[in-house]
Amino acid sequence: MRKIALLTSGGDAPGMNACIRAIVLTSLRYGLEVYGYRHGFNGLLEQEYLNLRAKNVANIIQRGGTILNSARCLTFKSDDAAKVAAKNLDILGIEALLVIGGDGSFRGAKHLANHWSGQVIGLPGTIDNDVDGTDATIGYYTAIETALDSIDKVRDTADAFERIFLIEVMGRHAGFIGLNAAIASAADHIMLPEISRSCDDELENILAHIEAVKKRRGNTSYIVVVTENLWPDGVTSLAQILTEKTQIECRPVILGYVQRGGSPVSQDRVLATKLGAFAVEAALEGKTGVMVGEINQEIVCTELENSWLQKKPLDPYLVKIQQDLFDILKRP
Ligand code: ADP
Repeated sequence: MRKIALLTSGGDAPGMNACIRAIVLTSLRYGLEVYGYRHGFNGLLEQEYLNLRAKNVANIIQRGGTILNSARCLTFKSDDAAKVAAKNLDILGIEALLVIGGDGSFRGAKHLANHWSGQVIGLPGTIDNDVDGTDATIGYYTAIETALDSIDKVRDTADAFERIFLIEVMGRHAGFIGLNAAIASAADHIMLPEISRSCDDELENILAHIEAVKKRRGNTSYIVVVTENLWPDGVTSLAQILTEKTQIECRPVILGYVQRGGSPVSQDRVLATKLGAFAVEAALEGKTGVMVGEINQEIVCTELENSWLQKKPLDPYLVKIQQDLFDILKRP
C-alpha cells in the first residue's frame, strides 16, 4: 500500500484531532502518503483534500473540533454520489479510506464500500457513545466532564434559590452521557431513554420524589438530568408543568453544543491515539468493512453494520445503583 486517506464526518467530537494525528504519524512511519479529505463525505465528492505531513498535525492533540472540518452530506446516500467518490479516490490512487465519525458516518462508509474496491475502515468518534463494538467512543469522556462541570455550577444556583433545575444533556437516543453525568454530580433524578416510562408515570414519579426529598432535606433544591429527545415537547415544557404542579420554581437548562467542544480529556486522547494507530495497521493487514474499537482494553474489529445494528446497553450496575440511590433519598 502506498496511499491512505481519512476524513471526519457527522457531529464533531473532542479527540478527533488526536485521532487524525495518530493516523497521520503512523501512516508516515510505515512510509505511506496520507490524504485528509475536508468536510466529511463532501470532500470526496468535491475532491477537496490536503496532503498531510507531520507538521500539519503538530500541536493539535489538545484541540477540540477537527482540523479537517466535519459536515453532513445528505447527497452521499445516493448510489451516484458513492460512485463519484469511488472514482475520485481512484484518481488519487487511494487504497484505503479511514472514516472517523458516528453510526451515520459508518453507514456512509459501508455505502461507499459497496461501490469502491478500496478498503474502508471506521473509527468511532462521537460524544454520544451510541456505537456498538467499543466500550467508549472518542469524545465521550470529555462530554461527560463538560456536562458534569455544568451540572455542578447549576447546582450552586439550585441550592441558593431552592429551585428545581432540569438539565438536558446530549446523547441522541442513548443515555450514556446522562447516566454518567448524573451519577458523578449526585443528581436527584434522571430520565434516560433506556429506562423511560410513559409521560404520566414519569411525572407522577418525579412529583412524589420531589415531595419526599423536600421533607427529608428541608429544602426544595432538586436536580434532574434529562437526555435530549425524551420529553415530547422538550424540557422547557416539562419545567412549566413541574412549576405548576409543585409551586416551586423549575428552570430548564439545555446544555447543547458546549458538550461537543473543548479540549479532550486524557482518556479521549489516549483512546483516539490507540485506535488511530491500530486502524492504519489494520489497513496494512488488508482489513476492510470494519470499525476498530476497544473492549476490555483489547483493540477489536467489528463489522461496520454491527456498530449500528446492535444497540449498546448501559452499564446495568450503574443503572441499578442510580435507582437505589433515588429510592434511598425518598425514605423519611
Ligand atoms: P454521525 O456520523 O455523527 O452519526 P450523521 O448521522 O449525521 O452523523 O451522518 C453523517 C453523514 O454520514 C451524513 O451526513 C451522510 O453524509 C452520511 N450518511 C449517513 N447515513 C448514510 C447512509 N445511509 N448512506 C450513505 N451515507 C450516509
